[in-house]
This record gives sequence, C-alpha cells and structure tokens, in this order.
Amino acid sequence: MIDFKFKPFNEMTDDDYKLVGFKSGLEIHQQLYTERKLFCRCPAGLYNHKYDAEILRHMRPTLSELGEYDGTALMEFKTKKDIIYHINRDSVCTYEMDDTPPFEINEQALDIAIEIGMLYRCSIIDEIHIARKQYLDGSIPTGFQRTSIISVDGRVPYKDREIEILQISIEEDSCREVSDYGHTRVYVADRLGMPLIETVTAPDMKTPVEVAEVGKILSNIVKSTGKVRTGAGAAREDVNVSVAGGTRIEIKGVPSLKRIPLLTYNEAMRQWNLLRLREELKKRGITAETFEHKIENITKILRKTIYLPIANAMNDGKVIYAVTLKKFKGFLNWQTQTETYFSKEISDRVRVIACLSALPNIIHSDSTAETISTAEWQKVKKTIGATDEDTVVIVWGPETDVITASREIAIRAKEVTIGIPSETRQALRDGTNGFERILPGPERMYPDTDLPPKRVTEKRKQRIKAQVPELYWEKENWYRELKVPEDLIQPLAISRLTGLFKKTVNEWKIDPVLTAVVLIQYPKRLRKMKTDFEKIDEEVFAEILKAYKDGKIQREGILMLLANSVKQGVFDKDSIPPQIRETEVAALIKNSDAELRKSRIYNKDSYGNYLTGKVMNEVRGRISSSAVINTVEKLLKEKK
Ligand SMILES: [Zn+2]
Repeated sequence: MIDFKFKPFNEMTDDDYKLVGFKSGLEIHQQLYTERKLFCRCPAGLYNHKYDAEILRHMRPTLSELGEYDGTALMEFKTKKDIIYHINRDSVCTYEMDDTPPFEINEQALDIAIEIGMLYRCSIIDEIHIARKQYLDGSIPTGFQRTSIISVDGRVPYKDREIEILQISIEEDSCREVSDYGHTRVYVADRLGMPLIETVTAPDMKTPVEVAEVGKILSNIVKSTGKVRTGAGAAREDVNVSVAGGTRIEIKGVPSLKRIPLLTYNEAMRQWNLLRLREELKKRGITAETFEHKIENITKILRKTIYLPIANAMNDGKVIYAVTLKKFKGFLNWQTQTETYFSKEISDRVRVIACLSALPNIIHSDSTAETISTAEWQKVKKTIGATDEDTVVIVWGPETDVITASREIAIRAKEVTIGIPSETRQALRDGTNGFERILPGPERMYPDTDLPPKRVTEKRKQRIKAQVPELYWEKENWYRELKVPEDLIQPLAISRLTGLFKKTVNEWKIDPVLTAVVLIQYPKRLRKMKTDFEKIDEEVFAEILKAYKDGKIQREGILMLLANSVKQGVFDKDSIPPQIRETEVAALIKNSDAELRKSRIYNKDSYGNYLTGKVMNEVRGRISSSAVINTVEKLLKEKK
C-alpha cells in the first residue's frame, strides 16, 4: 500500500486524490412535477402529518433463488423493528398497500422522463418493461418498488471531457421516515408512489469538488425542463465513493450539493484509513484466519459501578457483556474520518443492528475518557482473561439486544482484516458519515407481471423531442448577449419560464432586462413579502407582460399586478388599473400642489420630490413615473 496519510480537507490537492485512486459517481433522485402518482391516481405532493390509519409490519427474510439471504433483509430481521406506517386517506389508496393492482403508468410522468433522457442525449428505450426492485429497508410497505429503465447511455460535457450517464429510470418514491428509535421506526406514506427519476452517472469524478460541480450541472439540467419538483426533499443525491483497494460505498440521501465535497473527502479518508488499519493488523499477525474474540456476561462484576450509563441500566434490570478483541490494543482509537475513530464504526453497528440507540452505547479499554474506574477495568480484564495487548469493549442493555450487539462488535472488528464492508452510509451534519445498513444482495430486480410492456412509439418520441429545451448553458450565452444582469442569467436559464422569456423578447419585443427582472427577481421579492407565496402560473406572467406590451399598464404596475394575482390565486383582468391620461395627471398635480402648499415645508429644495411622491402614490402603475416627474418639473418651472 502506498505510504500516504490524508491531510486536512483544505490541504488536499488533485494529485493527492489521484494518488489514493479517488473515484465517485452520482445517483440523483428527482421528483417529477405531476398531479398524480405513478401507478395509482392519488394526488402527488400532498404532504400531511395527519393520519387516518396505522399499519404495523415486521420484516422476515426469505431465501432467494440462489439459496442466500439478502443482506439488508437479514439485517432488518436482526433489528426486530416494529415498522409503522401512517396513512392519510387523501394521499394513499389501497394500491400503495398492495391490496389492488397497479393502474397503467402515469403518461405525464413518462413524457417528462423521456424528455429528460433526451436532454442528456441518451438512447430512449423502445419498449419499457416495468420491474420490481426489492426494497427491504421498510421504506416501502410492499417490500418492492416499481421501476423501469427509460433511457441509457447519455453524456454531459464537463471541463474538457464528458461525464457518462449510465441510465435513467422512472420509479416510485418511498415513504418519509419520521422517527427511528429503539425498536420502533415510523414512516408517513404520503410521498409513497410519487413519480421520480433516478439518474445514474459513471464513477467519472476524480475529486470531491468535481462531484459537487457535476451534481450542480445535472440538477440545473433537469430543472431547466420546468417539469420537476423543487424545494425540500424534491431532489436527493446518493453519492458513491471508492479509493484504490477500497469498496464502492454509497452515501445515501445527501440533502444538499454543498455538502458533497466534505462528505466524499471523509468517505475516501475512511476507506484509506481502514485499509491502513488492515496493514497494521497484519503486522501484529491478525488476519481473517487468526482473528480471535471472546464474549462474556460481566453483569456481576460491574453491578455496583457509579458510571452513570451502566448504573442506570443496572437499575432497570439490564445486563452487561464484554467482548475481548485479541491483540487489538489501541485500534479503537484509529482515526477513520475527521475527528472520528474506529470505535464509531462499532458503536454505529450496535446502534443500528442491536437497536441500542441511547449513546454512549459502548465503552472500550482504548478510551482515555472517564468511564468505569481503573480498578473496575482491571477487575473486568482479569475475570475474562484479557491481556494488555487486547481491547475490551463493554455493552449493556436488554439481554437479547446485548447478545446481538456483542456478535456485531466481533463481526465489525473482524471485517477490518478483510477490507471495506459493503454497506450504505448516511450523511451526517458535520460532513462525516455513519453506518446505515448492510448493502442488499445483487438479486434485487425481477419482472413485474402485473403490467404489460409498453411501446414508446416513434410518434411519441417526435412529439416530446419538439419540446425539449435547449441546454441551459446555450441559453446563458444568448442572455449574456442581451445584457441580462449576470446574477439573473443562470436562474433564468434553468427556470420553467425560459420559453416565455424567449417569446417576450423575440415576439413582443419587450426589453430583455425588464423581462428577466419580472420573471426571476419579482417572484423572489413577492416571496419575501408574503409567507404563503406559491408558484405563479406561467399564464399569469404571460398575461401581465402582454398587458405591458399593449400599453395597458406601465413598468411600475407589473409588480403590483403580480402581487394581486398571488393574493387571488389567478390573474384578474379587472385588477388592471384604468389608464390615466396626461391631462388628468396634470390636473391631479395641480390639486396636490395646492394642497401641499398649505402645509409647511422647511426644505424647499425637496419640494419637487414631495409633490412627485404624493402624485405617484395615487397613479402608481397607471402612468410611467417619468411622465409624472416631467410634468411636475414643468409646473415648478412655470411657477418660478
Ligand atoms: Zn394511491
């Protein structure tokens, strides 16, 4: 193994990543913007924590055709979890619970998936076959997800090369997890069955920053269709990472692209450091064959300890076990990630698989922290026959859980002698990752006999092709030529309103800068003004810009009209203020002038501004501000 130690995140260079053989790919899950779910007619995007019914479920593993148990299923079985689904009758029907067969695939969702495939320059599949993908983590009540590959073999330009898009599938979203503690995990079923696409890239990214940059490009590309959901939870990234000699590890459900660089750095470091630990073990003569451990019940020895976590467990009538890891001394303090050590790998397994959720759930003899007393450690070691070369791990709780935990501690320690275990990991807030679950076996897909294959006709492809948007960076070039302000260029290029922008500028000849401001900046301002702001329909924007083009409203009136439309939920023609003629304005100014002169104004220089402001308040949106200013100036000049 190359002699290299990971440096702090900011000091790592591209060459360092090359040296360790960093490789990473993305799997992006993106919800599509449809009214209904993928295989039933329940509404999509109706989120609610209220529920009418509860379903309880237990996992039971069955042998696969190959005579093996699926890793995930076996793990979930070990956890003995009560899995509870909360069901609201407005967002879930009997289909999601596998009580009625599926409806035909949602055509709107299929169109969007094909369109996105075309954007990625993929080959579109001629005949789609619905498959069932095994889902044994509990997030889908039926234990499988309906999924279908829509397109394959696409590419996206990046730097001086191309990133390969392996495939795009359309599939059903899973349940939302609400809580997971001890032996109970609760899901809400509202999201279940909503259409999403999964885009899988090849592991073409060579540094953590590249992963985030490519993620951003992919996210912009799908957003630019205007047909995907946005906001919290609408797009979720799985990132896979490996280093030379390591294992392809998936970090699941990364909520934000910004977190990818640190997460992938830490995962690469974890794999590298675990491989280095394997070398060290070898030096001590520990391999998979020579690995030794011992599990013992030590409840009697520590019954009277004052170390609080264990003392509390004793009060509740629980038990204490010790696991001796032969010749492991010091290795539980071996660094794996930033400020994270090998003991965390063990504690994670104990938490997830033995369901000992309250932390700390283990203590160990390598630790320098205050736990049980030195005398107690010595007594424990003596009783179980551990030497100074060994590490002792202590775990406490209900006996069945503690037995599971002790075995898991030994399993995880032994795995170091082999390599990086195949598992999925979860992204943590501090940029490190934690164990999530054992990776499912490879036999995950099987044909779904409920639905016939479906042809994607040439006619359908042509129809969709005609509406595929330009790639967003091509639009950006055009916006730059039009002198659209720099900060509006990318948001506009990936906005659902790009089509309207084109029409407004090319056909209606409205100033592109004004149009960009109206389409991108005004909604932001409205969102700040009103908390219950929802998406404004494209039609509303179109009607208002049309009214401006026809001279029915002034520049100043656009924001006001948009605000009105947001309030009412629709565009209301009657809310267009009646036009006002210049002669009327002149009269209004004269009246205001007379009124204003009655009040005392100390700063005579500002008089013009006062007057203009007063008049503008009354005519806002009905005539341009420059017309008012000109008339006021003229009047004041005449008076002098
Ligand atoms: Zn349904």
